[in-house]
Amino acid sequence: MRTIERNFKKNPHTATLLKNFHTAAYGLPSDIDDDAEALALEAQQDGDLLDMVEDKNVVDLRTENQVRFMNDLIGRLTKLDPSTGETAREYTEMITRKGGWTPGRNGNASAWIGRMIAKEAELKANRPAPATPPAVTDVAPGRYAVEEDGTLKFFHLRYGKAGTRWAGYTFLDIQASSDHYPVKDRVRKARILALIAEDTEMAARRYGIEIGVCGRCGRVLTNEESRAYGMGLICRNN
Ligand SMILES: [Zn+2]
Repeated sequence: MRTIERNFKKNPHTATLLKNFHTAAYGLPSDIDDDAEALALEAQQDGDLLDMVEDKNVVDLRTENQVRFMNDLIGRLTKLDPSTGETAREYTEMITRKGGWTPGRNGNASAWIGRMIAKEAELKANRPAPATPPAVTDVAPGRYAVEEDGTLKFFHLRYGKAGTRWAGYTFLDIQASSDHYPVKDRVRKARILALIAEDTEMAARRYGIEIGVCGRCGRVLTNEESRAYGMGLICRNN
């Protein structure tokens, strides 16, 4: 199909402009024979002009979901690699500006989405592996005091109950006065657990001595001996 005819189908307004432009500027008759050179020139001129002409009547044939999906993919590509994301965004905007999207499963919008998905997978595969946090050691649930970066801090360790959706989860809260804040950073969490694991009994006793609450069972320590030891009598003997 002739380039002019194809453009006319895609975008009648711009195609009319182009047709007039060719005739006026290059003296190309609109009914030029299918001469390869003329067609190539025409195609190039159309491409250049389509880039220049701001066409208010450009039709975007993508579905809403395709537009949303493309934007989402561009955002994800940008996060993985800013320059790839930028290239994808520029290309998408260029085709949109030209009214160049074709609909349907075999259309170029769908094909472009496929290419961006493949690119995302490729970037993800080439990403360096994240630093693995030290293995979480088997520390009994309870309250512990350990020094993190030279400061004594208080923690509450719990595990998700078996048979619930939290089974297998480790919850580590840092205590500030009466408030608890979850330690969400996996690496920091593992580091704190490792500090506790170095000597769980001492970490629990230190908590008891400083806070006056048994690190094992959470009961307030009133007995003088228990207070000095930092753990209640029953827990001490278990
Ligand atoms: Zn206790």
